[in-house]
Amino acid sequence: PGSPSSLLEVFLEHARKTPDRLALRFDAKRYTYGELARDVTAFAQALLRRHLKPGERVALYLENSPAFVIAYLGVQYAQGIVVLVNTQYRQVELSHILSDSETRVCITGEAGAAELTPLLGELPALEWLITVEPLTASPPPSRPLLSFDTLLAEPVEERPMSLPGGTDIAVLGYTSGTTGRSKGAMLRQSNLLSNIRAVTQAWRWTEEDRLLLVLPLFHAHGLLVGLHGTLYTGASAELHRRFVAPEVLERLHADTAFTLFFGVPTMYGRLLEESRRTGVRPRPLRLMVSGSAPLSAQLFQEIEAEFGQRILERYGMTETIMNTTNPYEGERRPGTVGMPFPGQEARVVDVRTRKPVPDGEPGEIEVRGPHVFSGYWRREQATEESFDKDGGWFRTGDLGLRDADGYFHITGRARELIISGGFNIYPREVEEVLATHPGVGEVAVLGLPDKDFGEQVIAVVVPAAGQPAPSAQALVDWCKDRLASFKKPRRVEFVDALPRNALGKIQKHVLRERLLSL
Ligand code: ATP
Ligand code: MG
Repeated sequence: PGSPSSLLEVFLEHARKTPDRLALRFDAKRYTYGELARDVTAFAQALLRRHLKPGERVALYLENSPAFVIAYLGVQYAQGIVVLVNTQYRQVELSHILSDSETRVCITGEAGAAELTPLLGELPALEWLITVEPLTASPPPSRPLLSFDTLLAEPVEERPMSLPGGTDIAVLGYTSGTTGRSKGAMLRQSNLLSNIRAVTQAWRWTEEDRLLLVLPLFHAHGLLVGLHGTLYTGASAELHRRFVAPEVLERLHADTAFTLFFGVPTMYGRLLEESRRTGVRPRPLRLMVSGSAPLSAQLFQEIEAEFGQRILERYGMTETIMNTTNPYEGERRPGTVGMPFPGQEARVVDVRTRKPVPDGEPGEIEVRGPHVFSGYWRREQATEESFDKDGGWFRTGDLGLRDADGYFHITGRARELIISGGFNIYPREVEEVLATHPGVGEVAVLGLPDKDFGEQVIAVVVPAAGQPAPSAQALVDWCKDRLASFKKPRRVEFVDALPRNALGKIQKHVLRERLLSL
């Protein structure tokens, strides 16, 4: 046999060689590789028996559970394309994704079915639903409804099944919609496989590892890094339905078998708060990773001081999965996202000329390599605009720079760059300064239209709990003392909370709309 073409193939090989190894733990349930492979095969055969055709889309609108994992792998074994749907999405987003992808089958739970039922009229391509739990309260949907458990109980036939090829699309990953309407990124089997090979190598992930997996599986971070790394290496993961700070802290404190934890910055913030409140500390792990949103240098240092752990920050996105990582063995630099993974490239180009800029100078980050997706689903123009004409570089839409030592820094989104009076202002820089003011809990900086300057800088601040609330003037002065005057906010608004999505990313377009309607 040659080299594998898909993660599925690697997983099935582990199941064949070491069927009794633990793969997954979820509540009291445990799945060995052999048990998981049996269910994956049963599910794939059930889909094939019902004439799922190669390349047809099957959406997963599901919370973290073993059913998610089985369905995810089973759909690919049946040659389908998995469409990932954020479980926090409600009718508007759901209808956008399911109609955009022309999904034929949707796998969901009771709450998901209730959300879907009124939309079915708008979704002619959606032919049937599969539910992982009985629908008790909700009215039955006007489409054939199958039970996931019943499908798994159908006998597994001993017959050869074909595996997906490297160029097949495995997943339509819808971007988080942080900067606008979410787009379906077409990820090939080869993108996923080369990416997880690079990640496991860079982070020294082996079959001995055990991951505490609390990130949502509907997103690249949880699925394409957390689950894939586990199954690629033949390791194990304890999967949680969702992140609950006291539970995570308790597990990391009590169970000595964990070696890995991946989180987003808001999770680390909550773990720290909870640990300070209760005195419960996690035991040091082999590796704690942060990504999906910027980890402030301050939080990095607090985690180091209190948990004795230097978090490894990395940078990724739906379209490319993982781009850069701080070194496993070398120096992990707070406020940076490190360097490209093995076999991948990254550079910074001038936003106007698209030419590479010298180290230390800001621009847009571009990446190239086998991990880069093959375009946005049915969006030729968006695809064309996001690739460099000749070199195959993907324009990430993120602003940043590479420092003299080769570490990448992210300073914001190209679409969020503020241009005021002809000066470029990177929101992240102003946010970092405001965050160091003791009266500031959280902050977002953005630009609003201004008749004199083109745009003006606005800071939206959540005051810190238990501190005297700062005045707007005090915050403006704080910036004036630390930054060039043109970067200081012209206006400061105080709010109780910032709008965030499921991954804890601040939704600046929501803030912008709110501010404009004030
Ligand atoms: P959309 O593309 O729909 O606007 P999105 O870009 O937030 O949404 P994702 O693909 O989930 O959707 O997120 C990728 C983005 O997350 C990156 O482009 C980057 O802006 C941000 N990101 C990821 N990791 C980091 C990090 N370590 N530091 C700063 N930003 C990060
Ligand atoms: Mg994006």
